[in-house]
Amino acid sequence: MAKIQAIRGMNDILPDQTPLWQYIEASLSRVLNAYGYHEIRMPIVEQTELFRRTIGEVTDIVEKEMYTFEDRNGDSLTLRPEGTAGCVRAGEQHGLLFNQIQRLWYTGPMFRHERPQKGRYRQFHQVGVECFGMSGPDIDAELLLMTARIWRVLGVAGEVRLELNTLGSAEDRARYRDALVDYLEARRDQLDEDSQRRLATNPLRILDSKVPETQSLLEDAPALWDFIGDDSRSHFEQLRMLLDQAGINYHVNPRLVRGLDYYGRTVFEWVTDSLGAQGTVCAGGRYDGLVEQLGGRSTPAIGFAMGMERLVLLLETIGTVPDSVNADADLYVLAMGEGAQGTAMGVAEQLRDALPERVVISHCGGGSFKSQMKKADRSGARLALIIGENEIANDEVAVKDLGSADQQQVPRSRLVETCRNLLS
Ligand code: ATP
Ligand code: MG
Repeated sequence: MAKIQAIRGMNDILPDQTPLWQYIEASLSRVLNAYGYHEIRMPIVEQTELFRRTIGEVTDIVEKEMYTFEDRNGDSLTLRPEGTAGCVRAGEQHGLLFNQIQRLWYTGPMFRHERPQKGRYRQFHQVGVECFGMSGPDIDAELLLMTARIWRVLGVAGEVRLELNTLGSAEDRARYRDALVDYLEARRDQLDEDSQRRLATNPLRILDSKVPETQSLLEDAPALWDFIGDDSRSHFEQLRMLLDQAGINYHVNPRLVRGLDYYGRTVFEWVTDSLGAQGTVCAGGRYDGLVEQLGGRSTPAIGFAMGMERLVLLLETIGTVPDSVNADADLYVLAMGEGAQGTAMGVAEQLRDALPERVVISHCGGGSFKSQMKKADRSGARLALIIGENEIANDEVAVKDLGSADQQQVPRSRLVETCRNLLS
């Protein structure tokens, strides 16, 4: 019978990979908590309508990437393709947003039906941040300072660069959209097929088309910046000043528009050249209109999401993973002969009580002395603790240093102290 395989683009994260994942997750949550951000956990499934209304009907995600299904009640549900919509829904539902300041973060799997390739999967993981109730450029700057710190903590600061833009207000964008459509409509036959389609549905997305002919056509197109109103201009200038003061380097990219409808004013991406085509490791921006659009009262908001798989790939590629991430076992406890197993388990428990930061493995499954020692060696442990009939009779443990092969008989009463010294 054919064996059942995982779904294409949905990966198992295997035991030899999870230490790196845990290291990155722990580093991220440490920095986020240190800035006063609080974790929120939302369901993985939401009503389809939520994503249609927030991400936008004519975006790639809603048009062709969502995992949507009918549940047994006939309701249309969707596996979340991103976290912002659910976070706003939860905040609104529980009264966390109106007239309040919130700094929130979340992590977990997201689902998009894309073509799987390196750095692009159908189930992937994000760490996301959403801030509510702050309209000024100071919180925009805080988010960028915080991400810059995350890169330093993970040792990838030299590998990522910041791209920054402003999309202005909804009115600014509407006026710009008209001008851009006028310009491109007159040159329609020179546009690639995708962009021709977007001309009617989502013309701003044409700006980040990867097709060279389309890009050169855009050289002389009207520029978004010329349509940005005074308020948004000054918001952006102030953000730039704060970043300059903080010593954060960035590149203003007037073509950066982002793929979701809800963004306005500040948008940004942290990009690396080390991962090929899937180079954006973190992306976000301001979405001041979204809460109101979902039926709440007008609440300024800004957020970003990092792609965990891309961060993992980046750390693997440039090799900044500390040795301690792949820590082996410290102690391996062997039981020799009938009746020794109970005592050996007692010794292991005693060591776990006294040395909670150490990894203590109890040998299970019996076997000869030779085969148990082989397992001890393979575990990477520094010390093997051997308990046989003699040791039980004398209330001691044989402690073998697996590096030097030195072995000594140690009374139970001095076992913890001896192990602590040998390991330090
Ligand atoms: P891209 O341009 O790479 O498709 P996006 O604009 O669709 O990204 P966002 O929706 O802003 O991405 O998601 C934020 C981050 O999540 C991305 O910068 C990326 O790191 C990660 N990400 C998005 N889609 C995927 C995916 N299919 N597989 C792995 N990571 C992803
Ligand atoms: Mg995408």
